Amino acid sequence: KKQTLNPASYYFDAIIAGNITILSKAITLLESTKIENHKIAEEIIELCLPYSGKSQRIGITGVPGVGKSTFIESFGKYLINEHHKKVAVLAIDPSSQKSGGSILGDKTRMNDLSINSNAFIRPSPSAGALGGVAKATRESIILCEAAGFNIILIETVGVGQSETNVNSMVDFFLLLMLAGAGDELQGIKRGIMEMADAILINKSDSEDSTKIKLAKQNYKNALHLFPANKSGWLPKVESCSALNNIGIEKTWEIINKHNELTHLNGWFEQNRKDQAKFWLNETISDSIKNMFYQNEKIKSLLPQIENDVVNGIISPFKAAHLLLNEFKK
Ligand code: GDP
Repeated sequence: KKQTLNPASYYFDAIIAGNITILSKAITLLESTKIENHKIAEEIIELCLPYSGKSQRIGITGVPGVGKSTFIESFGKYLINEHHKKVAVLAIDPSSQKSGGSILGDKTRMNDLSINSNAFIRPSPSAGALGGVAKATRESIILCEAAGFNIILIETVGVGQSETNVNSMVDFFLLLMLAGAGDELQGIKRGIMEMADAILINKSDSEDSTKIKLAKQNYKNALHLFPANKSGWLPKVESCSALNNIGIEKTWEIINKHNELTHLNGWFEQNRKDQAKFWLNETISDSIKNMFYQNEKIKSLLPQIENDVVNGIISPFKAAHLLLNEFKK
């Protein structure tokens, strides 16, 4: 079989040609827990790299139920129909299990988009993915871009730490919120609000306009308390109804203004460079950590030393150095 001769270039050719089935298979390889598979995936990524980078990468977050899927369905369709874009949707959910029971990126929640030939929807990799869920998503971006997708939407639940990782792979960060529901931050961590380039108050159709106005003002005030954004961009607050396609076009305008500004002032390029550096270092520290914990000597020594640390026989610091010295031997 031709494929077995050089699988990476076989995948690469198909991806560049826009073959979604093969793109999907390549992503499965990079999510695989098998090192052999991941090696092939790494080769595919290297081949695709020169063809990547030309998309707009947009992070979308918000608590479950805020309307992320509904928004992505509307926004994605708008971009495809009105702007002839190709839209890839990737989800990050560190809690997702192998069963595929991910609460994010579930195809059934984006009915029209999932059957649109200009869209590609990929649920979150399982928590066991080699190097982590976020790394797999970051690698998937490269493959999707090489396959011709020029809008990459990255969806996360705005409750965990994964948002910091998302912020290190997107150009624009969108936070979906609700008016009214509870008070201030609705379980959204301050740090996440601080990252937002825009806050969209969703479900505007089901709230009265005074409440929406008040919410807008509150979020604007909250955003002004944060230190100025390094990109020179002032975060925007808007309302929308993902369900009724209201505020979708406005959102696109905002993203494009941000895009224009950050290309002009150089932040866009600098940010992408910083992100590449971040992932280099992330990957190195993850790999070293893995090597350490997979080391046979460490595996046999660790339980006893942990026990000694717990019982106060040795300090955690000294114990760590002891283990590291064993590892380096
Ligand atoms: P997610 O968990 O953030 O992805 O939220 P979903 O997109 O699944 O939406 C949760 C629920 O809110 C669903 O029943 C949606 O139909 C509903 N919903 C989403 N957007 C809107 C909106 O703009 N207006 C109204 N009234 N309901 C919405």
